[in-house]
Amino acid sequence: MGFDTSGLLPLSDALQGMLEQLACCCDSEQLPLPEALGRILASDIASPLAVPPFDNSAMDGYAVRLADLASGTPLIMAGKAFAGQPYQSEWPAGHCVRIMTGAPVPTGTDAVVMQEETQADGDRITFLAQPEPGQNIRRAGSDIGKGACVLTAGTRLTPREMPLLASLGVATVAVRRPLKVAIFSTGDELKPVGTPLAHGDIYDSNRYGVRAMLARMGCNCLDLGIIPDDPAQLRAAFIRADEEADVLITTGGVSVGEADFTKQLLDELGEIGFWKLAIKPGKPFAFGRLPRAWFFGLPGNPVSAMVTFDQLVQPALAKLAGQRFERPLQLQAIAAEPLKKSPGRLDFQRGILSQGPNGIEVRSTGSQDSAVFSSLSRANCYIVLERERGRVAAGETVTVEPFGGLLL
Ligand code: AMP
Ligand code: MG
Repeated sequence: MGFDTSGLLPLSDALQGMLEQLACCCDSEQLPLPEALGRILASDIASPLAVPPFDNSAMDGYAVRLADLASGTPLIMAGKAFAGQPYQSEWPAGHCVRIMTGAPVPTGTDAVVMQEETQADGDRITFLAQPEPGQNIRRAGSDIGKGACVLTAGTRLTPREMPLLASLGVATVAVRRPLKVAIFSTGDELKPVGTPLAHGDIYDSNRYGVRAMLARMGCNCLDLGIIPDDPAQLRAAFIRADEEADVLITTGGVSVGEADFTKQLLDELGEIGFWKLAIKPGKPFAFGRLPRAWFFGLPGNPVSAMVTFDQLVQPALAKLAGQRFERPLQLQAIAAEPLKKSPGRLDFQRGILSQGPNGIEVRSTGSQDSAVFSSLSRANCYIVLERERGRVAAGETVTVEPFGGLLL
């Protein structure tokens, strides 16, 4: 509609083209378990032991042998087994053993009968139900077998993996060093927060968004601040970033009116490709390499910068950092109101998902102009509208992508 979009690069092609060139560039180091939170595993972890390590009781009750129950007469309690204090004495015929959750079951136990299914009269225990063989016994190795692979290289360690590794007795883990990412914003109009604005100035917001997303990814950030549209200063910033970081991410200066200078500089120092992506927001995007570091040039418009980071840069950084990247979950939802859309680009509109009377519904956050940041801050999902799709009527089914870890 209106303009020719046939020359625009599909997002999937851009992603594939980038990922093919990238490989993990982070060495591994050995860290104590608590310090490894947020880091990426450098190798698979095989369990050094079985979990649970021994047969144990899942209930508070009585350990029994089925043969002793056959007569139907009460059993005499021979003794007690607690977690950490196994029952180790003789276990005469016609007896049961009082047992607590987590205690090793005594040798010969066929089942554990929960306390609620018994009646105690002093030491004489009457069993009200006939147990199944193996009932309420957690078998050694039933959770994790000895030698089983519990986590694979590339896994980012979250609070969920910490107790798992501790349960295996793992004290230190091999993890990747964090990826080092230099960032700066470009533009004569940009001022840092905490300073007054002159007429024509705006606050640099992109750097705060990019920094926050890098922090979520566990990257180390070298923040080079705001660089004016000045060739000498930009050149110096590119060179410094290349010397000190694995990756440089800039925002601004890649649109038609401004790309020439960045291009000239990158052609001189390394290589660069300017891509016109078939996505909205986020058409202009640059990807290239400096002598040592990789370069990602994000659009200046704040919403475009966040969306291109989330959709394109995130998987690329994950690969460089050695992290396995899983595509975010996409769901189907009902458009609760009409959505404006022109065919030609894949739209990542910002939406609000909610539970409606007929299932999951989605609404737009309002103006989808890529300079309107409130459209992103109020959203909890992308409404992903296919490239060739036009306007969406209320009641149509649309694909939504709930925001992932970077934006939450
Ligand atoms: P550019 O890509 O440099 O042409 O910038 C496109 C639009 O985004 C312009 O309106 C810029 O003022 C704005 N912009 C660029 N960089 C930033 C930034 N760091 N923070 C906020 N707005 C920006
Ligand atoms: Mg600019």
